Amino acid sequence: MTKILVIEDESVVRENLLELLSAEDFETLGAPNGRKGVDLALSEVPDLILCDMMMPELDGYAVLARLRSEPITATTPFIFLTAKASKSDFRQGMNLGADDYLTKPFTRAELLSAILSRLSKQATMTKYLANKPEVKTFLPGIQVIEAQLRGALQEGNLEEFKVNYQPIVNINSGKIIAAESLLRWQSPELGLVSPAELIPLAESTGLIVPIGEWVLQRVCQETKTWHKSGFTKVNIAVNLSSRQFYQPDLYEQIDKILVANDLAAHHLELEITETMIMQNVNSAIATMKQLRSLGVQITIDDFGTGYSSLIYLKQLPINTFKIDRYFIHSVNEDSEKAAITSALIQMALNLNLQVVAKGVETEAELDFLRQHNCDAMQGFLFSHPVTGVEFERLLLTKQSLPM
Ligand SMILES: [Mg+2]
Repeated sequence: MTKILVIEDESVVRENLLELLSAEDFETLGAPNGRKGVDLALSEVPDLILCDMMMPELDGYAVLARLRSEPITATTPFIFLTAKASKSDFRQGMNLGADDYLTKPFTRAELLSAILSRLSKQATMTKYLANKPEVKTFLPGIQVIEAQLRGALQEGNLEEFKVNYQPIVNINSGKIIAAESLLRWQSPELGLVSPAELIPLAESTGLIVPIGEWVLQRVCQETKTWHKSGFTKVNIAVNLSSRQFYQPDLYEQIDKILVANDLAAHHLELEITETMIMQNVNSAIATMKQLRSLGVQITIDDFGTGYSSLIYLKQLPINTFKIDRYFIHSVNEDSEKAAITSALIQMALNLNLQVVAKGVETEAELDFLRQHNCDAMQGFLFSHPVTGVEFERLLLTKQSLPM
């Protein structure tokens, strides 16, 4: 089992991280300050360390410097958690030997992606240095998953993949206007593999390309059947991964799938993240313009958590942005979140963009969004992600938000 040490002085953040990592089957250790963190790292020798940069007494830099000077922890993958994204902090951390950074607040997917990518790099390095076949067992979990995934794709066992749908509801009318499609992998050997584990792995191995194409095809086909049943206005959102987004033939692929399923392009919404855009802004804008020329819609997902500058937002050919669940959680009680969320909604209004709030779980959160004229919501308050059949039933029974 892969062991992860979390060094973080804010107990709420620490406990959340530990809970999330245990749910992903990592063995976890927590330390409330730098000194305890160093002790635990030396006695328990974790496979990876997540460490807050700003802590009283021994801060993240001091912890990292200490651990890099001990042979037993000299090469342990080390990811800084930081509340600010300043270049000088990054440089100082890199010079000391940090492997990566996560700027708070980060999403679950970003966290797992950073961890998996570091662990697999470490495994490759360990294998290379040791040059012995037995070190392949360094990370059995991830390697087993990868082998199974390759197997499933090679044998064409795509029925192991399932697409679930989470309804997106107009806050004014209370009606379902769209759904976000979410990929699940039900492996006969491994059971249900969560998207948080699957997507970063599929992305890092390139397997995301055939899987992503299958998802697009599947989702367009299912949406067309709902349209044929009379729900002709329902749109469908598909999350694109970075590798898919930068594929040179993405435009042709999507065009082909839309034509094959006789689905009007404006019913398809492609969700991309700020981080993906910022990888190469000019190329991203060109791709987005090309996709828009097809007629498909573009949404920025998890808005507010990436690094994008508001200056770019004006230039981006997008239709919608989704406010990350971090800002929505307890937005009615947290004055800072309330200020940011209402500003984001106002900005969307001024820029003539649609705005969707993610992770709406309570009536009070919904009331806040309603009062501030947010267009649409998605979250457990209305519905969890459901199967295609269940989604169609929600449409048939005209499920709507209580007004
Ligand atoms: Mg999404």
